[in-house]
Amino acid sequence: MIIDLKQLRLQPQQGEQFSFVEFYPDELVQGLGARFADPVRVDIEVVFTGQIYVGTGRVITKLIVPCSRCLEPSLIEVSEELSITIIDAGSRKPEEFKDDVLVAEQGEVDIEPAVIEAIFSAIPLSPLCNSECQGLCPGCGVNKNMEACRCSEENIDPRWEALKKLTREGGEHIGSS
Ligand SMILES: [Zn+2]
Ligand SMILES: [Zn+2]
Repeated sequence: MIIDLKQLRLQPQQGEQFSFVEFYPDELVQGLGARFADPVRVDIEVVFTGQIYVGTGRVITKLIVPCSRCLEPSLIEVSEELSITIIDAGSRKPEEFKDDVLVAEQGEVDIEPAVIEAIFSAIPLSPLCNSECQGLCPGCGVNKNMEACRCSEENIDPRWEALKKLTREGGEHIGSS
């Protein structure tokens, strides 16, 4: 996602619009257990202030991530704001800026690092397939969204109650002797 800044430099304060649609490799988000369900779309307007380039726009894509409760693949729609500061190589020091800056070489800059960062920040820490997701049963491991689990029924099973009573009686017997 290369932006050519040469035209912008000739017309300070006049924005130029750039649009990209690119497939990103799944390896980028594999660490989060995710994969891309759509290409990455970026629309950005860049303005040259006379000293630096300021880009504002939006990143749109779709990701498939495992639900943090039931582990089923769930769709995350990414629509994240993008704001980028770009400087020409050698013009200013990147340390002068409190936020990350991209450095343009020979009038061109690759905005991909900023786009990837925006995608990462759009992925929730605990993604859910659905806010009502019941998750997996810690007892038997069934997906409670798909099938009813018997674990809670077993707790009130009459035979289980009888067994508990027996244990209690046994305890009393030992105690009274
Ligand atoms: Zn779920
Ligand atoms: Zn269960």
